[in-house]
Amino acid sequence: MKILVATTNRGKLEEIRRILNPLGYEVMEPPEKLEVEERGTTFLENAYLKARAYYERFKVPSLADDSGLVVDAFGGYPGVFSSRFHSIEFGGREDLRDSVDEANVRKLLRLLKGKENRRASFVACVVLYLGDGGLFAEGECRGSVAEFPRGSGGFGYDPVFVPEGYDRTMAQLSPEEKDRISHRGRALRKLADLLKRCDL
Ligand code: IMP
Repeated sequence: MKILVATTNRGKLEEIRRILNPLGYEVMEPPEKLEVEERGTTFLENAYLKARAYYERFKVPSLADDSGLVVDAFGGYPGVFSSRFHSIEFGGREDLRDSVDEANVRKLLRLLKGKENRRASFVACVVLYLGDGGLFAEGECRGSVAEFPRGSGGFGYDPVFVPEGYDRTMAQLSPEEKDRISHRGRALRKLADLLKRCDL
């Protein structure tokens, strides 16, 4: 089955391809980027909005991932705002001196400075839109936020996220190690199971 991935985020694209290819799915990049307003208040709503928009434009099964970091001490923030955390009101805006990822991480570390509770989860919701509805699955990876960034793998908050049971950050794990325990790996394997059960 060919699946179009409704994202132009390179980190996500690479991971989705790495996880779904060996399960027998051909992952295609979109021929063009669509501007989809992520106006939902949940990962599921946003993933659904993106998957449906790409399906309607390209008329092929479209997979969207909406994901983010949920920090216990912030009551769930940045959550659905993870990709633009640096620019939202909560906790004060952060200058965009370098990349968006670096500004997001800087703000996260600033707001957690001195806090004892650094527990957090990565959460991913994936929606595969097939025309007349679709399928969805969720995955979570529990862990905590490190005091400072370490490692050069992955993307986003990976350099400051230490998964439960590890002493390395996500950015210090090999791609295979990350996929085995990550929110995205878990969500995509659940989705692939659903597809198999539906004979798709
Ligand atoms: P989205 O495109 O709105 O789903 O944004 C997701 C954002 O959450 C990304 O830009 C990252 O900042 C963060 N994020 C999601 N998944 C990961 C991950 O696997 N590692 C690190 N950061 C992630």
